[in-house]
Amino acid sequence: MSAYTSFPIILSAPSGGGKTTIAKALLARRSDLGYSVSCTTRAPRPSEVHGRDYYFMTRAEFLAEREQNAFAESAVVHGNLYGTLRREVERVMAEGKHVVMDIDVQGAQQFIRAFAQSVTIFVLPPSADVLLERLRGRQTESPAQLAARLQSALQELQQVDEYEYVVVNDDLERAVASVGSIIDAEIVSRERVKNLRQQVGSLIQRLEQEIENTIP
Ligand code: 5GP
Repeated sequence: MSAYTSFPIILSAPSGGGKTTIAKALLARRSDLGYSVSCTTRAPRPSEVHGRDYYFMTRAEFLAEREQNAFAESAVVHGNLYGTLRREVERVMAEGKHVVMDIDVQGAQQFIRAFAQSVTIFVLPPSADVLLERLRGRQTESPAQLAARLQSALQELQQVDEYEYVVVNDDLERAVASVGSIIDAEIVSRERVKNLRQQVGSLIQRLEQEIENTIP
């Protein structure tokens, strides 16, 4: 069992910011991380698998879960409902893993109210040209969907101050390394050490005994 407690890691970015790629790279490399599979009412893309990429739901199914207070957060993104099930986050943390969350800015703000121990990271594109190129690069969207993405990207960028960390994604390897370093530092932050008081208390007690015994 790890000496440190598990926590969620929220990666947010404007659409096309590269956060999903960063999340996937980290998950492939680190066995101490797990992924929280989100629920959505949007249709699956050709390569997507139910239960791996998303839990694809009808609107009625989604609303029924929301009615049961099953979501730690939910939001409308580009006209579809998205949400994170509390039980999904708890499932991953019960495995002793830190949970990588790929959620939008509105969801992130709700989520940290439910899981206050979360680490929040905003992934910034290196320039407006790169952001626009990435937003346009996705071939699966209609002009209306693209316009909605541009609008969301604008709103998301305005929320950067809500995040503890900012990683500029100018080079994927470097961005993955930076997010990895943030996670490593957060793992050993004082408040995440399990039973710190007891651990230090027993060390102190032993030293005090030793000091008493060695007083001439
Ligand atoms: P996509 O449909 O392209 O996979 O994701 C669209 C947007 O929805 C992305 O910004 C993604 O971060 C966000 N998203 C994915 N899952 C969730 C979720 O569970 N909750 C919220 N609030 N946003 C999500």
